[in-house]
Amino acid sequence: MRPMTLLRAWLRHPAGASAWPSQCLICRRWPAQTLCAECRARFAPQLTRCQRCALAVPAGVAVCGACLREPPPMAQCLAAVSWQWPWSMCIGRWKFEGDTGLSGPLAALLQATPGVAEALAAAELLLPMPMSDQRLAERGYNPALLLARRLAPGRVQPGWLLRTRHTPPQRGLPRAERLRNVRGAFQVDPLAAGRLRGRRVLLVDDVMTTGASVREAAATLRAAGADPVGVLVLARTDEPTTH
Ligand SMILES: [Zn+2]
Ligand SMILES: [Zn+2]
Repeated sequence: MRPMTLLRAWLRHPAGASAWPSQCLICRRWPAQTLCAECRARFAPQLTRCQRCALAVPAGVAVCGACLREPPPMAQCLAAVSWQWPWSMCIGRWKFEGDTGLSGPLAALLQATPGVAEALAAAELLLPMPMSDQRLAERGYNPALLLARRLAPGRVQPGWLLRTRHTPPQRGLPRAERLRNVRGAFQVDPLAAGRLRGRRVLLVDDVMTTGASVREAAATLRAAGADPVGVLVLARTDEPTTH
């Protein structure tokens, strides 16, 4: 587009920043959406995923072997994309480099994932995966909370699920150590405990790696009476959940 055409487009939408031309973060074309339609179609294919833990599985499979052996506390888990380029780059900028303007485009990516609209419509409450105070102080914001607020404004309760213990990053740790690390890491705020009983809850997280934290958080919510507990994550690694 020629500069004058761009200028005219800007002048036509002086109040709507979202209508302003921008550059696609992935293919670098512009004017385009921050995550353009072509890149979403190319890099976010709809994989068949385990209904309980969102692990990529062959077409026609509903539940993975690990979840059949030991059903996880979450009734459902939906993931938008696999944790690989370009999503690792986009989510890294959003999560670690303070580019919170990506919350909207990333929430839209999750909302376009099959099953997510239905899960959001059915949920009474959305709870973001909490960060420890230490990590929140380091980073300044909780990306999962930004995401949850975009998905269902008005139904988000950021303070009900608490991370009461700081846990080191789980990636690369052996299974037994992952489980030990997260055991008892979450608690429901005692003031909210009675209000979770029988409520349909969605836990929202940005990246699900081993699944150990998500499982522990979902188990904590189930123990407080939330039923069912579903999980929405932006990106999922391709390794099985820790059982
Ligand atoms: Zn693009
Ligand atoms: Zn599974």
